[in-house]
Amino acid sequence: MNEPTRRILIIDDSPEDCFTLRHYLSQNSDYPVIFSEASLGEKGLELCRTFSPDCILLDFQLPDMDGLEFLSELVDELGSVSYPVVMLTGQGSEAVAVEAMKNGAQDYLIKGKLTPENLQRAIDNAIEKVFIRQKLEEQHQALEQRNHELQTFAFVVAHDLRAPLRAINGFAQVILEDYQAELSKDVQHYLDNILQAGTRMDQLIQDLLTYSRLGHQAVRLQPIVLCSLLEEVVQDLAFSEVEYSLNISSSLSVIYSDPTLLRQIFTNLITNAFTYQRPGVIPKIEVTCKAQDNGLLASVADNGIGISSSNYDEIFEVFRRLHGQDNYVGTGIGLAAVKKASEMLGGRVWVESVVDKGSTFWVNLPRCVKDAGLVGIERTST
Ligand code: ADP
Repeated sequence: MNEPTRRILIIDDSPEDCFTLRHYLSQNSDYPVIFSEASLGEKGLELCRTFSPDCILLDFQLPDMDGLEFLSELVDELGSVSYPVVMLTGQGSEAVAVEAMKNGAQDYLIKGKLTPENLQRAIDNAIEKVFIRQKLEEQHQALEQRNHELQTFAFVVAHDLRAPLRAINGFAQVILEDYQAELSKDVQHYLDNILQAGTRMDQLIQDLLTYSRLGHQAVRLQPIVLCSLLEEVVQDLAFSEVEYSLNISSSLSVIYSDPTLLRQIFTNLITNAFTYQRPGVIPKIEVTCKAQDNGLLASVADNGIGISSSNYDEIFEVFRRLHGQDNYVGTGIGLAAVKKASEMLGGRVWVESVVDKGSTFWVNLPRCVKDAGLVGIERTST
């Protein structure tokens, strides 16, 4: 198969170096090349537009700009460096070349060590790297688009399903209340079942709406007083258990995060810690927050029924429940929402558990602590 012709733009102010580069690349008849040359960065930028190179060989020291400036001008023009660039540096400039790679160059070669082989290899690698990166970006964008469409679909469906459901529940309720005397026991029983199923479906739809809203909302970072947020979460939950022990401790005061997402995380984890309890055992829940590498490491631990390690991953999927409604009421969306909220904040959630002893859910949110080790809180409710 014929090799494709590579369009190579040489940007170098040294005629000798340009000659060497051309000479090295013209030696191999199986490696067809078309050249264009510029001795100034400005001219090089212009040729990027008119010559459309497959690869740029860029001298680091140009009379009008250095290699890093050239790369940033390319970014200004294109939004990112989408041309394969091989930086050519002198001996001892490796640190600068590495910097260039961080700024968009794919490779660098030291001029004194050039050979026809390593030059060809660097060009081909650079072309391949950019090709793969562009393909990945395209796939990523397509995936984002599909995700967005799916989220919109779920949101619209959930929203539109609620109206007819309200009508079903409302009429069933009216018949039960206003026509009770005329209804046989069987009919009353069937209507009760309709109402129960309708109420459960309404709860499912509400949870699904909350979940899909999460995907639509922008992340708004702001300073949050962690202990106040945790207090609010616990107050809103208003647990009805006669006896329980809840301990919240935090060695952090203020973090920079999104309060809505953070509330989602703690509300769901603390609710589950109360829900999945063993009969006859007093719920003992421990919430801790501490700094870890400029991030937040939070845990919610309970002494409940526990989770088998074979289910650690699946419980974070939407609608995935390990128990029937008869044992523990739920919709199977809480942990999926925790996962989504954690990921939106750049973090992750995981669980460690022992069956019949209890579970600890961990949440790690990076880069949200500006001043680690601030005054914290210790709170116990019984
Ligand atoms: P829901 O609680 O509405 O069922 P979740 O997504 O919050 O939905 O949880 C998914 C499943 O994970 C639950 O049905 C339960 O089986 C299991 N689970 C969650 N939290 C705990 C916990 N603290 N202890 C034991 N099992 C849990």
